[in-house]
Amino acid sequence: MTAPRPADPADLATLRADLAADCSRCVGLCCVAPAFAASADFALDKPAGRPCPNLQADSRCGVHARLRDIGFPGCTVFDCLGAGQRVTQHTMGGRDWREGPEVAATMFAVFPVMRQLTELLWHLTEAGTLLTDGPLATAVEAARVRTEAHTLAPAPDLLALDAGGWRREVGELLGQVSDAVRAEVPGRARDRRGADLMGAALRGADLHGASLRGAYLIGADLRGADLRRTDLLGADLRAADLRGADLTGALFVVQPQLTAAIGDAGTRLPTGLARPGHWSTGTTDVDRSRTRRPPRRR
Ligand code: SF4
Repeated sequence: MTAPRPADPADLATLRADLAADCSRCVGLCCVAPAFAASADFALDKPAGRPCPNLQADSRCGVHARLRDIGFPGCTVFDCLGAGQRVTQHTMGGRDWREGPEVAATMFAVFPVMRQLTELLWHLTEAGTLLTDGPLATAVEAARVRTEAHTLAPAPDLLALDAGGWRREVGELLGQVSDAVRAEVPGRARDRRGADLMGAALRGADLHGASLRGAYLIGADLRGADLRRTDLLGADLRAADLRGADLTGALFVVQPQLTAAIGDAGTRLPTGLARPGHWSTGTTDVDRSRTRRPPRRR
């Protein structure tokens, strides 16, 4: 079996450098292409393909510094993972949706496809740091190379791509990686993938090595929870309380999941992810001893 090894933080940050959003090389695609409904996340209705009224001519957000204060917290949660600049600079060769309806229609159609691909690259890059040589490591690298090749395809090819099908294939592969890595956790917590844990009382819960893949954790109380080596792929962490939780080595986490959650200075983060600016700078009094398992009896 392929043996897991710890991710090297320096490696992962470097390998993911191309997956950081660079708004200076984009034309505000995330502020134009999607539709938004007025809600707690976005203060007004905006149809797909119409620029947000806060978008400036230089493709910068005019209210960037005040997004959370004036009713646009959803904007702080979104991260294109580099899809915007890839579409603008590579797929469209530096063109701008403002040039006309045809350019705009193509850019807006390609953008969500590219966003799926960059997220897959994010996870596959992490998966590649978790495995030593072996068939699974080879398959992960092949999937990463193929995904990268998709991002470089011309617009018609991207639009014809079965992105959902590729996403499912990669998801299965990432599941195998997750199983291999979590198998190293002695007596790991049980599988809760896809579980409805909205608002669940999980303070101090021992979820070390569990799978919470695709779980609904909206508003869950995870203060002080042990989420080390927990698979959080696609888990919905909106308003989940992660103050004092330990996410060291948590698998397949993207920055928007953390940004959508509540945390503090005591939250331990997965490799290569940043502490959101709106999190508390204080710490929550957490008894971490409750999150550890007792020694196993022989
Ligand atoms: S509020 Fe700012 S970040 Fe949000 S969609 Fe509008 S321009 Fe973009």
